[in-house]
This record gives sequence, structure tokens and C-alpha cells, in this order.
Amino acid sequence: MNPTIGVLALQGDVREHVAALAASGASAVLVRRERELKDLDGIVLPGGESTTIDKLLRAFDLAEPLRVRIAEGLPAYGSCAGMILLADRLLDGIPGQQTLGGLDITVRRNAFGRQVDSFETDLTIEGIEDSATRPMHAVFIRAPWVEEVGPAATVLGTVATGPAAGRIVAVRHGRLLATSFHPEVTGDARVHRMFVRIVRESL
Ligand code: GLN
Repeated sequence: MNPTIGVLALQGDVREHVAALAASGASAVLVRRERELKDLDGIVLPGGESTTIDKLLRAFDLAEPLRVRIAEGLPAYGSCAGMILLADRLLDGIPGQQTLGGLDITVRRNAFGRQVDSFETDLTIEGIEDSATRPMHAVFIRAPWVEEVGPAATVLGTVATGPAAGRIVAVRHGRLLATSFHPEVTGDARVHRMFVRIVRESL
């Protein structure tokens, strides 16, 4: 049976994640309320604006229950703003901005700066099928990077060339996966398939 994977649907590029999950052997459902967390095997936190998603999570009384589910082992994948939401530690957030946490990283919001605000590049990501021979085309939109990885997290990918060379943009910590970029917008579902594998292994 296909695992049921929620997409947090408060703000951001929800539809693109639903399509990528559906193409990856999962049943995707939208999550806006606490009761919709109950039957999930995993959850995707989409790209968007982390400050807005944070406010809405709290306004919808979803922040605490989701934080608890993730801490209890619910697999989660965050892209861009979603990476920020999963991070244990946040730099350059707005005053009062909170994360859900779980992922042992320090993330820097809007990290790439003005000159490389939004850019595209090819990446090799560990754990992605054929990644060495068929790199992942990665789209970055006012993206965060991982400033520091704690002992529990593993680096899966870094930027190869250009002004941001060496910056960490894909990480995993147990059942938690995060990318600075948006694989949901390129039609390449390999990151989503990797997440579906993590979800299946957790069942
Ligand atoms: N800059 C956004 C934030 O702070 C993230 C951008 C994105 O998700 N494309 O949440």
C-alpha cells in the first residue's frame, strides 16, 4: 500500500509537492488542521515563506502538535522554507520567529545574499538515484543554507561551483530530510522518491 504523506498546506508551493509525491508512490493529503496529522506516515513542509508559515502554524494551533509528532519520529521532508521550519537553530530569522525543530542543524535564512538571491545549479546528492551521472538540477529561490551541521545530521549535498561553492544545501538526520532548493518545481522526483523510501522504512 502507498504510504500517506501529508503536505502542510498553510502557504507555499503545496500543489507542486502533491504532484511530486503522487509521482513517487505516495498518497498525498493536505494538512491544515491538527486532526489531519493523525493518519500520516510522513509530512512535507513546502517552500514558501517560513515567517508566514510559522505564524499560521501557531494561529492554527498546529505548531505544537506537529513539533511533538516530528519529535516522536514522524518522517518529514522540508524544502527551502520547510528546511528552516525543521531546523533546531535559526540565524537571520525575524524577531520572534520559531521553528518546529528536530533536525540537528543551524540554518541561515535568505543566506545566499543579493547577488545570488535566486539561481540554478546542478548538484550531486548522496542517496539520490544516479546522482553522480545524472545530477539534480536545483532551483534556489531566496534560499537558506545550512550554516552548521550538528553531530546527529549528515550532509548529503553541497553547491559545487560559483560564489556559493561548498555551501551545504541538503541534509538528513534520521527520518528528517531537508533541501535548500525546490525539487518540486523541476519535474525530477528523485528527492521525493528518497523521502518516500525513508517513510516506507519507518513503517
Ligand atoms: N526566504 C524564504 C523564507 O525565509 C524561503 C524561500 C523559499 O522557500 N523559496 O522562508
